[in-house]
Amino acid sequence: MIISLQKNLSAADRRALGPELARLLPGGNLRRVRSGLAVSVPGRKAADLVPLLENLAGVAGVSLSETELFPLACAGLKKYSTPLDFGKGPVFIAGPCAVEEEGSYLASALALKAAGAHALRAALFKPRSSPYAFQGLGWPGLKIIARAKKLTGLPLVTEATDTRQVGRLSAVCDILQIGARNMRNYELLKETGRSGRAVLLKRAMRATLREWLLSAEYLLKHGAKKLILCERGDSVFSSDSPGLDFGLMREAGKLTGFPVLADPSHASRNRELAKALALKALRSGADGLLIEAAVSPCAAKMDGRQTITVETFREITGK
Ligand code: PEP
Ligand code: MN
Repeated sequence: MIISLQKNLSAADRRALGPELARLLPGGNLRRVRSGLAVSVPGRKAADLVPLLENLAGVAGVSLSETELFPLACAGLKKYSTPLDFGKGPVFIAGPCAVEEEGSYLASALALKAAGAHALRAALFKPRSSPYAFQGLGWPGLKIIARAKKLTGLPLVTEATDTRQVGRLSAVCDILQIGARNMRNYELLKETGRSGRAVLLKRAMRATLREWLLSAEYLLKHGAKKLILCERGDSVFSSDSPGLDFGLMREAGKLTGFPVLADPSHASRNRELAKALALKALRSGADGLLIEAAVSPCAAKMDGRQTITVETFREITGK
């Protein structure tokens, strides 16, 4: 923790601050550094201390190190694990945006497995901007995804949008997805962590690395043992915009050790661009892809325009 002091602090102000710091940081070994005073504080106490320290006269601000901010996320694979095998090259989680109808979903599941998918997108609940847009099949879709799992033997990745869905989804699904819109839904993060299921955590649009990894910290603090991160992008991919933040994606992987996927579908909104972005993501250090792919994307009710065909998926996986 670095405590920055206000500029031009008088000797008297400094003397008054001493006992206050000693009261809040008993036994704290304060060292002078260029930007202020450095003290090491166990992660769990640091968050409580920041507002108290910031209230002291003469203190300009307090900043925490990464291990103080998210100690569990920083422990990464030293303490936790990951649900899919990332040891053999990129991991591909593929499937339509949402499960819409049994026949087409099972056909996509089988074809995607043959084309190199390691796990299936199996969304039953979709957070939509418009309340009139298709919201997903909901619970009637559970038997469809269970069938797809039996048929393909592939693990299922499904999004939980509400705490009340977590228990029932985790009985059938292998990985619970926290979508971009819910990255800051802290009650959902706690409940998902408590389920003990593996989690795929997407970065919310415009979320900082710190916010993203603090959300990962919520999951780990509340019981998650297996985690995958996923970069979903801030902007739309085009010739002059990378769409996904590859620097941030690599930084998240480096800091935590957890695998970081890229989602080229939602940042591209277009299937030709999605393929280009998928390849770019793999070249830029993504550990794999979460990608929308289906046998007949043009018939999809949702996100069909950005959904690639199984043939394109095969070109990406190289299978
Ligand atoms: C998804 O991956 O199914 C999804 C809804 O994407 P996002 O959460 O990134 O909007
Ligand atoms: Mn989608």
